[in-house]
Amino acid sequence: MILKNAIANKIVFMKCPECKSTHINKNGRKRGKQNYICVNCQRQFLDCYQIQRGYCDEFKRECLTMYVNGMGFRAIARVKGIDHVTVINWVKQVG
Ligand SMILES: [Zn+2]
Repeated sequence: MILKNAIANKIVFMKCPECKSTHINKNGRKRGKQNYICVNCQRQFLDCYQIQRGYCDEFKRECLTMYVNGMGFRAIARVKGIDHVTVINWVKQVG
């Protein structure tokens, strides 16, 4: 049930940068990033954080989970391809 909700939220959250359609399918991974394809216009695009300004909650939560599991800021930043200052800020926000 929780998983179902998560998927539903994801679909609502994801939007095609081209036609704004929410009919999005996963399309494998490229360079460690999830690739998506718009069913409507066939436009391909990477991770949700490139569509929105800022990062999606799920992405943020993944980074924080890594931090909780003992990974350093720079290690997380390297794995996720983001600035380590961003990770530090998130950890500060959560406390
Ligand atoms: Zn589209």
